[in-house]
Amino acid sequence: MNELKIGSHVGMNGKEMFLGSVKEALSYEANTFMLYTGAPQNTKRKELSQLNIPQAHALMKEAGIQDFVVHAPYIINLANTVKSETFELALQFLALETERTVAMGSHTLILHPGSHVGEGSEKGIRKITEGLNAILTKDTPCYIALETMAGKGSEIGRSFQELAAIYDGVVHSEKLRVCFDTCHVNDAGYDIVNDFDGVIDEFHRLIGKDQIAVFHINDSMNERGAAKDRHANIGQGTIGLTALHRIVHHPDFITVPKILETPYLDSPEGQKKAIPPYKEEIALLRHPL
Ligand code: FE
Ligand code: FE
Ligand code: ZN
Repeated sequence: MNELKIGSHVGMNGKEMFLGSVKEALSYEANTFMLYTGAPQNTKRKELSQLNIPQAHALMKEAGIQDFVVHAPYIINLANTVKSETFELALQFLALETERTVAMGSHTLILHPGSHVGEGSEKGIRKITEGLNAILTKDTPCYIALETMAGKGSEIGRSFQELAAIYDGVVHSEKLRVCFDTCHVNDAGYDIVNDFDGVIDEFHRLIGKDQIAVFHINDSMNERGAAKDRHANIGQGTIGLTALHRIVHHPDFITVPKILETPYLDSPEGQKKAIPPYKEEIALLRHPL
């Protein structure tokens, strides 16, 4: 089916866990979604048996959701050459996370390549490839999708060349994919507003556009090249609705899942909770302008 796939990141908590994630996605009229298997900032995880996987799958089937993606926690840093514990923890946890991803029914695990913490990107890239080579085998049952990064701090993955260098160093690079984050790519300096096709051409030459397994669709609070990484709501940032809408509907990527990670809106007067913008933003991006 050539249906546009668009959704947002959703939570996974409380009693319902994964079933609640699917319900949240459906409440936004999404037909795909992204989740973390637990808190993104730690590695504490519940048993698979507590996630309500069969119930979640039954609801997904009923609602026609075929695809969702998992995001690895961002404390994982495969590029750390300084602290061996950090690297070892990343290895162990990532191996478990690929298993969880598959057990939950996804085939894509998104990973921030890592930060070289001052040692330089060359060293960092070498450490990342060492880590991925320790994890990936010909039998790895899911893809690891390296996310394009903004270049904040010592982040690796701020250029397509850096991602291509990781591909080059990984033996089972057929298990790699890319997650293309519009805010990050903008902040890294690529002109996706005026020349998305040119940017994709460059990506294609270095990595291959068939390698894009997921998009993160975010506006940016900062100018192109700012190396900042602050997501803005759709149409409220420097990328703008027109450019993001064009990316979402690009004929080369229709069936590639598009995931919003835009900020929650301030709570209205008298209410405590911030409001997710996703239902409105998904509708805005899905329908013709
Ligand atoms: Fe990310
Ligand atoms: Fe992202
Ligand atoms: Zn970001």
